[in-house]
Amino acid sequence: MFNENNFKQFIKTKIKWMGDRKASIQEDDLLNAMCIFTQSLPISLNKKSSSCNTLLGKIFQLTNKPTCIQYNHYFLYLFKYKWCSRKKHIEHINNFGKCKTRWNNLDDTCYNCRINKRQNSFEQRKEYNENYRKNNREYFANQQAKRRAAKLNATLTWLTKQDLIEIEDVYYQSQEYTRLLNEEYQVDHIVPLQGKNVCGLHVPWNLQILTTTENIKKSNRLIDNL
Ligand SMILES: [Zn+2]
Repeated sequence: MFNENNFKQFIKTKIKWMGDRKASIQEDDLLNAMCIFTQSLPISLNKKSSSCNTLLGKIFQLTNKPTCIQYNHYFLYLFKYKWCSRKKHIEHINNFGKCKTRWNNLDDTCYNCRINKRQNSFEQRKEYNENYRKNNREYFANQQAKRRAAKLNATLTWLTKQDLIEIEDVYYQSQEYTRLLNEEYQVDHIVPLQGKNVCGLHVPWNLQILTTTENIKKSNRLIDNL
């Protein structure tokens, strides 16, 4: 586990210069500031970023530090720990994967966060798919009816593009009715696709919009008539 006090002691050993009395900052303030990773620079030093970096350069006099890396992150790495940018926490560098493009060859996100992210994205995708189905019911209802109709050879091959759009419109309309009238509406084939004596067609002029109860009544009536 990361220990902030040990980390501060570690940084203390790296201090080469604390300045003259006027210009210097308090050592405690410096060490505290170095433990803040959420800010881009230790702002509590009360310096502008450029002068702050110059000051830190004077204090630590590091020769190997990559210039684009902040002092606190660099020291944390030397301390064998790393800031995980995903959940904003500190983990041992052994808990990070490899990433060749980064200065320390370490991934930005720790293993645990990576696994969590994968699980979350899987659940998010599942939820998205479910919602998509719910919000595009007319599309799926139409597709389902089309499949059913095709199975029954009920779809005429000479239907025009306009006819297909009309069919889609009917399904869309039924969903609009459901939304606006607070009652479940369905698309019904006037002459059923699977009638006993006659088979209806999946064509615009054989479609009507009924409430679910009307539709059930109708199919019951048809069964009674058989
Ligand atoms: Zn993490």
